[in-house]
Amino acid sequence: MRLCRFDTDRVGVLRGDRVVDVTSVLDSIPATRWPFDPGDLLIANFGRLKHLIDQEMLTGEPRHLADCALKSPVANPSKILGALNNYHEPADDADYPVSTLDRDGLFLKASTSLAGPSDGIELAWPGRQHDHEVELAVVIGSWCRNVSRERAMDHVVGYTVALDMTMKGSEERGLRKSLDAHTVLGPWLITRDEIADPGNLGLWLQVNRQPRQRGNTRNLLNDVPRLIEYVSSFFTLYPGDILLTGTPPGAGPVAPGDIIDAGIVGVGSMRVEVR
Ligand code: MN
Repeated sequence: MRLCRFDTDRVGVLRGDRVVDVTSVLDSIPATRWPFDPGDLLIANFGRLKHLIDQEMLTGEPRHLADCALKSPVANPSKILGALNNYHEPADDADYPVSTLDRDGLFLKASTSLAGPSDGIELAWPGRQHDHEVELAVVIGSWCRNVSRERAMDHVVGYTVALDMTMKGSEERGLRKSLDAHTVLGPWLITRDEIADPGNLGLWLQVNRQPRQRGNTRNLLNDVPRLIEYVSSFFTLYPGDILLTGTPPGAGPVAPGDIIDAGIVGVGSMRVEVR
C-alpha cells in the first residue's frame, strides 16, 4: 500500500496514477486528550485501520495524482534520526570501508524540519551553501527499545524517499540540518510488505534534470536492521519516528529556483522546488 497525505490533511492511497481519498478512516482513531503520547497517531493505529482503508478503497473518491499537493506522509514523528557516512564511496573499493557508527553514532533533526514535496524548500540563509542528500527513510511502526537486529524489521511500518537537506558551516550538525523544510519526505509511505529487500534499492537525485546522485542501499555500511538495533539501544522509538539511512556519493549544493527530482526504485519519486 502507498499511503499519502495531500492538500489540507487528506489521507490517500495510490491506485495506479490515482489517489483514492480515505480520510474518513481517521474518524476511527480513538479520541485522545492532552497530554498526547509521543508519536504519530495514524501510524500508531495503522494496524487496526488497515482493513478500514481497504474497504474505503472500494468506494472512495479517486483523484488524479497530479492534482494532489503532496505533504509529508508522516505528520507527527516524535524524532528524526540520521546516519552519517553510511555508504561505500567508489574510492573505498580498494580499501576496507570503515563505519563510523560506533564512534560518531547518529544525529537528531528537529521534527519541525519536516516538509512534503509540495511545500518546497526555502533557503532561509541564501548566502550559505545548502546541500541535497537523497536517502532511504525508514518509518518506525511500533514502540521499541533495545530491539535486536533479528526483530528490528518487526517495528518498521514502511519506507519513503527523503531529502536530508544540510546547510554547510561550523555549527552543530543538528542545528544546520534542522532548518524549516530541511527534511522532505515523499511522495508517499510504501508499506513494508511491498519492499522485498530494503538492502537492495536503487536511489537517485537530479537537479534541473542533471544527474547528481546515484546509489544502491546494498552499499550501506550499516543496514536497516543494524541501524534500528543501534539507535534503539539509546532510546525508545515511537510510531512515526523517521530513520534517515545516509546518502550515497554526489551530495552537492542547490540554489533558489532549482528543481530537485529524487526517487527510490520501487518506492516512488518526487519533485521539490528550491526557493
Ligand atoms: Mn544525510
